[in-house]
Amino acid sequence: MFQSTQRPVRRRQTVVIASLILVIVAVLLSLAMLSPILWGPMKAALHTPGEADGRLADGISVTLDATHLPAISGLDPELREAMLRAETDAAADGITFEITSGWRSAELQQWMLDERIELWADEELARQFVATPENSHHVTGDAVDIASLDAQLWLIDNGSRYGLCQTYSNERWHFELATEPGGVCPTMLPDAAG
Ligand SMILES: [Zn+2]
Repeated sequence: MFQSTQRPVRRRQTVVIASLILVIVAVLLSLAMLSPILWGPMKAALHTPGEADGRLADGISVTLDATHLPAISGLDPELREAMLRAETDAAADGITFEITSGWRSAELQQWMLDERIELWADEELARQFVATPENSHHVTGDAVDIASLDAQLWLIDNGSRYGLCQTYSNERWHFELATEPGGVCPTMLPDAAG
């Protein structure tokens, strides 16, 4: 007798609690969508940057002529021209420049940083190799990353003739227009965090 009167009450309680949880979730979701502070990170988590953000697929490199790609068309024209002049001369030594990264949107830069932090589980170390969107010279179109090793070594030796310099001592592949043609490259920073 006692138990049979308790069961419907318990069922009602369960229904009320479930409804309350649904209402709370709905309210939180609406708040998140209305608030730019919450919606920004949520959207970033849902959106994987693509070609329009300057992303080149892993292991893919392109030439400086691939101006149909935002990664190349987003570069500072002076940097691209200096790289083209250097590439023409490097070709005489049988060397070609393969661009592995050029211009990047701020979203791509943040995504790359987040990926690296997740991969290495070490934010401080990740920041030494991937700058924040605010500090990245890729985001402003002022940096290119190149392969192969031969091309990197060629530019390290000859880049200053075109104003091109390696700017981080831990990134042999990263070059910027950092001096006048024939000038002296500035002292390298230790890494992207420095
Ligand atoms: Zn770089």
